[in-house]
Amino acid sequence: MKSPANLPLNSGALLHTLMASTSDGIVVTDANGTILMINPAFTRVTGYSADEAIGQKTSLLRSGRHDRAFYETLWAALETENQWKGEIWNRSKSGEIYLEWLRIFRVVDPEHGAVRHIGIFTDITDHHRAEERELTGDDRDALTGLMTRTRFLQRLEAAVRHARQTGAHVGLLIVNIDRFRRINEHFGHAVGDTVLVSAAHGLRRRLPAGDAIARLSGDEFAILLSAVSDARLLTEVARSLQQGITAAGDAAGLTTPLTASVGLALMPEDGDTPDELMRHAAAAVDEAHKQGDAGIACHSSSAAARTGQRFRLEAALRRAIRTQAFTLVYQPRIDMRRHTLVGAEALLRWHDPDLGEVSPATFIPVAEETGLIREIGDWVLEEVARTAAIWRQTDLPAIPLAANVSALQLSDDRIVEHVRHLLHKYGLPPSALQIEVTETALIRDADRARTVLSGLRACGIQVSLDDFGTGFATLSALRDLPVDEIKIDRSYISPLDQASVDRADMEIVRMIVALGGALGKDIVAEGVETERQAALLRGMGCNLAQGWLYGRPMPLQHLMGQARRSAGILSGQE
Ligand code: C2E
Ligand code: MG
Ligand code: MG
Repeated sequence: MKSPANLPLNSGALLHTLMASTSDGIVVTDANGTILMINPAFTRVTGYSADEAIGQKTSLLRSGRHDRAFYETLWAALETENQWKGEIWNRSKSGEIYLEWLRIFRVVDPEHGAVRHIGIFTDITDHHRAEERELTGDDRDALTGLMTRTRFLQRLEAAVRHARQTGAHVGLLIVNIDRFRRINEHFGHAVGDTVLVSAAHGLRRRLPAGDAIARLSGDEFAILLSAVSDARLLTEVARSLQQGITAAGDAAGLTTPLTASVGLALMPEDGDTPDELMRHAAAAVDEAHKQGDAGIACHSSSAAARTGQRFRLEAALRRAIRTQAFTLVYQPRIDMRRHTLVGAEALLRWHDPDLGEVSPATFIPVAEETGLIREIGDWVLEEVARTAAIWRQTDLPAIPLAANVSALQLSDDRIVEHVRHLLHKYGLPPSALQIEVTETALIRDADRARTVLSGLRACGIQVSLDDFGTGFATLSALRDLPVDEIKIDRSYISPLDQASVDRADMEIVRMIVALGGALGKDIVAEGVETERQAALLRGMGCNLAQGWLYGRPMPLQHLMGQARRSAGILSGQE
């Protein structure tokens, strides 16, 4: 067969013709990455002529945007699979960073048996740039001309999809200007807007065209970086963006430096859906703000810090169990009509030598997650029973003492046995003890929890539903719950304190009281702090309360003092 006349038959010449005519950049190197040959498209994209490039290493083009691991993976793929392909950021002679789609093939030159690497790349920055130019009015933020949040989320979604297919990384940054409200308040919105426009330009200028940037809302921007593979590099970009913001503030004539906090999230480390990445980057910005102005926080590292904190807490909890570092305080329960003490709730207190006073709201969830709550809960029950026995040896009127019980403690029958054993050991009637459970505890393993609670009630123990209204229990579900008493959560009682109480707030409480009463359950208001709340509650027919108005959680001795006074008032009245 006859070859086309204009095509040289010599393979070297053929290669030359191909190299000269293609719009893809081509570079041939030896096994160590020393450049042996380039084509005109290489010069067009990188700015380096043949004289400047040949003899140099390909590291000449490094942008600083990839870490060592990235290049190690690339070299390893060449060694084992004879090829690598992917997106890579390179830097041109003029310093501009551009994104290219690069394929590298490892071949053995048949003439000398030497190993050669052939890199073929397409500059895809233009593709992104064109996309940016094509943004329509609706996709642009009216003030800054950047992408809108909606458009940005579409881009993020596409980047995530692409990364899933290729195993590439996606970096997400959220930039939030520090104390921007103060600028608006001090100088007015017109200056605020100017600052935002300058800030947008300052950010844009520091990013290669391929990176998407959007204004999410007010003073918050989001930036999507493709092919950035580690948090350290993201942090460098974040720093450069912060400098951009400060320069923009200077340019806008602000006298105090304009700073911004940046939150980072990386796919796949910090999530692999757009939603997760956005949430985690947003959480990281909050974390960054906590560091003061111009903070930078990465989701994984702050998550790691939180995990670290959690482990410290867990270790301290274990130590507290060993050293018996817990104590109980008691909060009085009052009959608001008679002004008498009718019960008390035991609440855990923990003072750690290193961490100081730790609130149960902090350590109970950790104790629940780790299962340590079983041991702690057993101790609480025993301590409450022991205290009830001490109480009964005095001449004070007998009152029930309530212990809080967690969901995990209701997951088996053990607690029923334990309570029965305690009643026997301390010679107590069941009316001496009460159990408080939250709605969530009842929901988690509803059937089991119900069985266990019924077991406790069968022993004669009263069960209270704690924090009613914060979980999922509906009013109608109350009928079937195995509880004797309902404690209305403090969040419903607090609004009753306002000078003009919202009607709806009143009606909700009134309804719970009425329905509870109709179902034959006692109703206790939690967190009563003022006389006004007390009066309103009494007016609704709710007579039992706990709260600072009647006493904060206190040591047993103080509670006994209060009981003595309360009994005295009562006998004095009679
Ligand atoms: P809880 O059982 O609903 O306890 C009431 C919480 O509200 C207590 O907080 C109490 O100090 C607080 N409080 C009472 N009256 C007022 C008031 O008038 N105003 C305000 N602002 N607060 C009031 P505490 O002691 O920090 O306990 C928090 C939660 O920790 C408890 O909520 C309970 O769920 C849990 N907890 C405490 N001790 C134990 C325990 O021994 N076992 C278990 N499983 N959980 C416990
Ligand atoms: Mg409680
Ligand atoms: Mg409560």
